[in-house]
Amino acid sequence: MPISENAKAVLERRYLARNEAGEPIETVDGLFHRVADAVAAADAVFDPKADVAATARAFYGMMTELDFLPNSPTLMNAGRPLGQLSACFVLPVADSMEDIFDAIKNAALIHKSGGGTGFSFSRLRPKGSTVNSTGGVASGPVSFMKVFNAATEAVKQGGTRRGANMGILRVDHPDIMDFITCKNNTSEITNFNISVGITESFMEAVGRDGMYDLVDPATGSSTGQLRARSVFDAIVTSAWQTGEPGILFLDRLNRDNAVPAQGEIESTNPCGEQPLLPYESCNLGSINLVNHLKRTPEGYTLDQDKLERTICTAVHFLDNVIEVNQYPLPQIGETTRATRKIGLGVMGFADMLLYLGVPYDSEEGVALAREVMDTVNTVGHQASRRLAEQRGPFPLFSQSIYKDGAPLRNATVTTIAPTGTLSILAGVSSGVEPVFAYAYIRNVMDNTHLIETNQILKDKLLEAGVYSDALMRQIVEQGSLAHVDGIPEEIRRVFVCAHDVSPIWHVKMQAAFQQYTDNAVSKTVNFPHSASREEVAEVYRLAYTLGCKGTTIYRDGSRSEQVLNIGKVN
Ligand code: ADP
Repeated sequence: MPISENAKAVLERRYLARNEAGEPIETVDGLFHRVADAVAAADAVFDPKADVAATARAFYGMMTELDFLPNSPTLMNAGRPLGQLSACFVLPVADSMEDIFDAIKNAALIHKSGGGTGFSFSRLRPKGSTVNSTGGVASGPVSFMKVFNAATEAVKQGGTRRGANMGILRVDHPDIMDFITCKNNTSEITNFNISVGITESFMEAVGRDGMYDLVDPATGSSTGQLRARSVFDAIVTSAWQTGEPGILFLDRLNRDNAVPAQGEIESTNPCGEQPLLPYESCNLGSINLVNHLKRTPEGYTLDQDKLERTICTAVHFLDNVIEVNQYPLPQIGETTRATRKIGLGVMGFADMLLYLGVPYDSEEGVALAREVMDTVNTVGHQASRRLAEQRGPFPLFSQSIYKDGAPLRNATVTTIAPTGTLSILAGVSSGVEPVFAYAYIRNVMDNTHLIETNQILKDKLLEAGVYSDALMRQIVEQGSLAHVDGIPEEIRRVFVCAHDVSPIWHVKMQAAFQQYTDNAVSKTVNFPHSASREEVAEVYRLAYTLGCKGTTIYRDGSRSEQVLNIGKVN
């Protein structure tokens, strides 16, 4: 199995099945057999004569070769009593005490099983409005987010990871200004990523420097107006200061809502890549692009045939997951099975470019993103159509935006996940992000540091005859090759890191992937510490113009505790 020592350490610490005394009761190889067998078993549901063992072998091979990995909960829980296999959930939060605390309870059950939850708080009446039954005063969305946060804090997921949440508020909610800065001066919302739900009419008002209405969700009536540019500037300033809030373009999420008759999409999962209906869940999986290169006498090229085979097996795998999944609530099971959304994406994209000798921040790099994701999306949809012929379309197909075409098994097929853990397991760059740094320290979990050096660069420098320990030390310290002497120009141009890539290229790359992705793209636009607010504003406007579904930015050094640190060995 081509799995690194780092990856083994992560699997052993967090993913292996354990007995009551906390001792592992399986090996890493046993884990992959457990997952492959449990997921393949779904074949028999559709065809009693199915060769389940052959499917299990194909799934096992695809995972142990690191060609494809399913999201963490599938690796942790498949074939085990908990059996909860999805990473992404969205829960509704309606405007009553009972509904709010139901959502908190349901989120706790999901966190316990390793999933992340997204919520829109836009339906909650604003701070200061009256409460009919008591004559008291409502405390508003932000104060309830603190309760969700505290519950999350208390529930450590299966003893491994702390829960993750997305909190969304529409830009026309009367409490929007409180929401924009709600994480800045408190540690009471640390288990949330927050995003403002932006509408096109708001963006249009920003463009013409107009006013827009704030609407009380409880009454549907206007409570006043704000100047759109002031709100936009407040979002930009807060994001510049702390990285949050992100923004989400709600109209775009709903333009791609596969089954509009089921209601509006109001929220995504915690990292923003998976818009979902209330009570819907989705399981993700990512193809390791580095493993889909082949070496020719002229250098590396994409192995199109292998990529297409992996896509088909991966869609089969993810559709099976929906079948064998044990859902945390009956309603989540019903909603999920009605649309059968899956999220197939890629990881190791930046590493793939290094092998191909193409800079991330180049038209050629962006063109390759389109080419690869077009394949994943097109072949993924074909695979889902073939499954529909054997297993039937998703139950709400006849109400879906696809109803006039050939039946589909899954209402969505593609999503670009962050692959935070999966990319460590596969030993490749995460998702579609550029390489963060070529030598750095990664804080994987509380107080665990892994030292990573980029093997592709090391090999390239050795081949060019310029490798030395002193050179590598400079790269560790500077986190970039840009100003290190003694590196041939053609290597320097290709081996760009996240901070060498200008924010504009980050957005162009995100937009290229979004063009061929049913759901959304997890991507952070990195800024240097010296970036101005106007540069952040420009990126937000560009993300809107280029068709992204949202944006998350991060200015280096703007938060004291970073997951990834450049050039710092501690
Ligand atoms: P992995 O690599 O572990 O499979 P990703 O980094 O790709 O996970 O994240 C995918 C999704 O999984 C996130 O958007 C979120 O919905 C969920 N997720 C990630 N980390 C957590 C966490 N600590 N707690 C709960 N859910 C999480």
